[in-house]
Amino acid sequence: MFTPKRASLTLAAVTGLLVVGGLAADAALSPTPEGFTTERSADLAAQIDPSKPRNVILIIGDGMDDSMITAARNYEYGAGGRFPALDALPFTGAMTTYGLKAGAGPDYPKAYVSDSAPTASGWSTGKKTIDGRVSQGPSAAGNIPGENYETVLEKYQAEGKLVGNVTTSEITDATPAAAAAHMSQRGCQGPTDMTACATEKKSAGGLGAIAEQLVDHKIDVLLGGGKNRYVQATDAGPSVLDYATTTKGYRLVENKAALDGVTSLAGGPVLGLFSGGNMTPRYNPLVATPPPGAGGPTARCTDADRANQPDLSAMTAKAIDLLDNPDGFFLQAESAMIDKQEHASDICGAIGDLRELDEAVQVALDYQVANPDTLVIVTGDHSHSTQIVGGVTDGKQTATLLTADGDPMTVAYSTSDVGSDHTGAQIRVAASGPQAANVTGVIDQTDLFRTLLGRTPSVLPGGQPAVVKPAVSVAADGPISRSELQRRGVQVAVAATGATTVKVSLSKGDKTLTTRTLSARGGTTTLQAKTGPGVVKVVATAVGAGGTTKATKSVRVTR
Ligand SMILES: [Zn+2]
Repeated sequence: MFTPKRASLTLAAVTGLLVVGGLAADAALSPTPEGFTTERSADLAAQIDPSKPRNVILIIGDGMDDSMITAARNYEYGAGGRFPALDALPFTGAMTTYGLKAGAGPDYPKAYVSDSAPTASGWSTGKKTIDGRVSQGPSAAGNIPGENYETVLEKYQAEGKLVGNVTTSEITDATPAAAAAHMSQRGCQGPTDMTACATEKKSAGGLGAIAEQLVDHKIDVLLGGGKNRYVQATDAGPSVLDYATTTKGYRLVENKAALDGVTSLAGGPVLGLFSGGNMTPRYNPLVATPPPGAGGPTARCTDADRANQPDLSAMTAKAIDLLDNPDGFFLQAESAMIDKQEHASDICGAIGDLRELDEAVQVALDYQVANPDTLVIVTGDHSHSTQIVGGVTDGKQTATLLTADGDPMTVAYSTSDVGSDHTGAQIRVAASGPQAANVTGVIDQTDLFRTLLGRTPSVLPGGQPAVVKPAVSVAADGPISRSELQRRGVQVAVAATGATTVKVSLSKGDKTLTTRTLSARGGTTTLQAKTGPGVVKVVATAVGAGGTTKATKSVRVTR
């Protein structure tokens, strides 16, 4: 029996605050279902940081468009809920993702619907290319290689930063491949998959298969699925795996416990291959079918058995832990199975891996709290087919689930009779940290290239970030009886920005009954007091460089 989630009093109950840096990790950032209630200009201004980031973490949800985010949010948190991390990022924009079609050039026809190869190449290289192509320029046909384009990961590696590449698909799949490999056709992943890319084989003087290129790069942390590509024999004889471990010094890990056991890069780069092919999605499938469709008004997703595979947040946390160093790092982490499960018209698979992406974003934001010179960008690569529709007959294939609201939601897939394909709408891009403001407005995927590399710092008006008055909000439960107030106390939640000291007190008339000191960001606590019936006031006080701000909430005390 499913019980819709009932929010207890948490920071999420505090309205209207947009909070700096580390607090991006907190639910306090999310508006209530009623929306942001305070004027936010000062808070947003305080978060604009023009400095160049030391670390850059790019988190990709493959196929993660607004429709898919909304469906997953409805299911996991309800229509008025918010993803704690993904929806808390302070700067959000819209991003176009179109690509090119093969042709005579130099002006190539536009492709309004792209696959993951040109889209990932877009942010990796800053240039558009054609379907199937991995960080290589366009050409007259798919089987004619284009010019190799240098990637963000390659540039950072050349600068001496550590680099990581994490995914839940095969590590050789298009999105992770585009970070550091160059290939005319995305299917050329292992040395024995090279028929369509014969001139790019190592034995033909090329860079070799994607699997080989990734280890030739000595990417410091390489985690995902795709072991089947690595057991293939290279043109020279040994498997890619042998080549990686003997010639390139990689340490192979194949399960979560082994990954946990790696605690530094001192022993060499890490190659984690946790599955022969793609890794297992979080939820078991619920595959849409022709109307009246799959599932139903009481259907919920169930956890899949992922054996000893690590999940995306565990891989992301480990990658950050290993890459963390004074000179900085670049990490790309992808929740790949959102897209794969959308291709399969599997709503549960896609929802589970979007939730998993949110957890990975939380890991990145937690790191950002202690390392505020870290830019975190979260986006997708292209839009997809999942639509939220009004009825079970509103599409070629439909599925219905019970959401966290306790209401049924139907999704449809209508690009095909069986399975589903990409679509061409712009997608969401969001960010937090230095230079995060560059994702706002309408940008193109290729603009991310320069943002990921860190742009030349600009100067804010006034020469430095303005000192803003602290902002504070308070929420409290109530009414409460005299005896309850004395015994368990009134629960309060406070959220603050721009403060160095935050206190919350309970008062009646002029008399302060009790006071507690919270962290500079606020927090939750209980205030107990012995008093008679009437109205007491919960007063939150935030003191910072910009002055003092108070917020008050009245609570009725009953007999
Ligand atoms: Zn796809």
